[in-house]
Amino acid sequence: MKKLVVKIGSSVLTLGSGKPDPVRFKAFAKDVSRVIDRGYAVIVVSSGAIAFGSSLAGSSLAPDTLPHKQVLSSIGQPLLINAYTASFRPYKRIVTQVLLTHEDFMDRQRYLNARRSMDLMLEQGFVPVVNENDTIAVDEIKVGDNDTLSAMVAAMVNADRLIILSNIDAIFDKDPHTNSDAKPVSEIQHIEHYRSFDEGRSRYGVGGIKTKISAARQLARIGISTTIANGRTGGIVTKLVDQFERGTGPRIGTTVAAAQHKISGAKKWVSLLLKSSGIITIDDGALSAVRKDKSLLAAGILGVSGTFKQGGVVSIADVRGREIGRGITNYSVSEIGMIKGKRSSQINGSLGYSKGDEVIHRDNLILTDPSPVLGREE
Ligand code: GLU
Repeated sequence: MKKLVVKIGSSVLTLGSGKPDPVRFKAFAKDVSRVIDRGYAVIVVSSGAIAFGSSLAGSSLAPDTLPHKQVLSSIGQPLLINAYTASFRPYKRIVTQVLLTHEDFMDRQRYLNARRSMDLMLEQGFVPVVNENDTIAVDEIKVGDNDTLSAMVAAMVNADRLIILSNIDAIFDKDPHTNSDAKPVSEIQHIEHYRSFDEGRSRYGVGGIKTKISAARQLARIGISTTIANGRTGGIVTKLVDQFERGTGPRIGTTVAAAQHKISGAKKWVSLLLKSSGIITIDDGALSAVRKDKSLLAAGILGVSGTFKQGGVVSIADVRGREIGRGITNYSVSEIGMIKGKRSSQINGSLGYSKGDEVIHRDNLILTDPSPVLGREE
């Protein structure tokens, strides 16, 4: 069964007033149901909670502060799910609600639980509708935008593809608002080299082109393709599925091609997290070793900070302080403090025990594009 994650933005689902647009909901449910009938499993990642909440609360609660947004989403999220439930009912499809925060991804056990639960929903033929749990999400635990959330969900469920539907037709080679000769790009092969302009945001959406490109880039690295298209085009999901199956012919939207390889579950998990629990700084020798797919040993570690135990997710930084990778550590922060710079044969002497030579095993280590430590991709 092929799995698609379809992210749909507030700009597609709302009327100008911020109210849910029933026509769009109906059309989207019909479109998605058709694709499910063809044997696909579809997970919807939907925005709209804050927009719908605002439309009901009126001017008394503007969506301008985090506490306001938390309350507005608690008003709007039930409306959002009701709109989906009603729209899928004619197609005899049951909608489930899944609300996540970044914390559900940070903890491996919670991550696996969420995945198992969604797998079961898909097995039953239900349509999971995912959103961030905005009502309880404070900045520290927030994913922040649904483009990023949809990439994290696509990785979690091991999707075949992510579809991001917004109010743009495609990604252009230049900013189409200021360049009349801007052309849509139908396929981006090497997203790691792609630098985009920022197209700005819709009224209620949090992301913009930047977060879409960033989501696609993250997924390309772990072997999942992303297609960005206009959610206002009639039957867009069916049209895209036709396009994927056909492989040739006219192209709709922009597809960001995945790197050829699919990577293992643990690496996938680590690479999609926005936050890590600590930083391990390594010397240039260790940097070239990990770039050659070797494990990280204590000898190449210059420094460590953060609060993490064995099994924690840490950022690996070079001497300039740039994050070059992420990994799951075999030693806690205090243990690494005691063994850093030492040869593997000295670990026992320093700690009185050893958990093995590798501080981070190569199977649990993934290189990222160089970016500021703990910073989000720009
Ligand atoms: N979770 C937000 C909402 O439902 C939307 C986030 C976004 O637009 O990316 O209102």
